[in-house]
Amino acid sequence: MMARFAPALAAVSPALRATIAPLISQHDFAGWLSAAQVKQLMQANDLDEDALCLTLLPLSAAYAVTPLSHFNVGAIARGISGNLYFGANMEFVAAPLQQTVHAEQSAIAHAWLRDEKRLRALTVNYTPCGHCRQFMNELNSGTDLIICLPERAAATLASYLPDAFGPRDLAIHSLLLDEIDHAFAVAAWLDHGLSAASPDDDDPLVSAALAAASRSHAPYSQSHSGVALQAQDGRIYAGRYAENAAFNPSLPPLQTALILMNAAGVYNQQITRAVLAERQNASITQWPATNATLAALGCHEVHHLSLSL
Ligand SMILES: [Zn+2]
Repeated sequence: MMARFAPALAAVSPALRATIAPLISQHDFAGWLSAAQVKQLMQANDLDEDALCLTLLPLSAAYAVTPLSHFNVGAIARGISGNLYFGANMEFVAAPLQQTVHAEQSAIAHAWLRDEKRLRALTVNYTPCGHCRQFMNELNSGTDLIICLPERAAATLASYLPDAFGPRDLAIHSLLLDEIDHAFAVAAWLDHGLSAASPDDDDPLVSAALAAASRSHAPYSQSHSGVALQAQDGRIYAGRYAENAAFNPSLPPLQTALILMNAAGVYNQQITRAVLAERQNASITQWPATNATLAALGCHEVHHLSLSL
């Protein structure tokens, strides 16, 4: 983990390095800082939260996986809990560009998967692209979200996305990061000619995919879905689908699972098996894209589970 951070750490002040290094070098550091840790860093370095987040951006950008662009973007989602969540862009060789994850999406999904209830602000090292501005407009913080960039005054999402189109224009009132649990149940396996047997219903990978689908955000299509990935060390990372009012900026469940895995410092080529759980008879499916992207990452044991209410 420390090797990833070495260039970024070398660039920060010795005082900050002395206070942040013990936190990020812990073996279980997973790309986020608790409110207590944030307070400690602010006090030790005499920085306010805006300044601290700007200083931490290179550490967040150190998570970038950019084999195509080599352009590393780091973002930090700042929750109402006071916790900070790192995010970075991720690209996948041999998969379509539509599978790419932007840093802002990464930080936001990271906060959501750790059950943050609302975001106050987001700090990012480059100006957010149009895709991300639309993605952020799905949040329950709405256009009040504060965007912070280096060498620029903080401004609301409203100023970055004037005349916005969003969930409320479609009479949708369940927003991204709102607490929700659809409590889906296993309906059937839809495994597609796999040589490996379908997992048992009490397999933790199945439970994780089911729980993720139950808490996914799909108010437009009602096609809820979740993905659980098992890494070589046995640990499980589950991701929820995050749908968007403008459809295209929607973030598939595989991507949010990969965000969590990357934040934990586990490379995305280390997936041994995966489960995609989707609502039965849904109008859209994540299956072809999930399967193809996992194949590009070298994972060929992907199970497909159908869910009912
Ligand atoms: Zn973007």
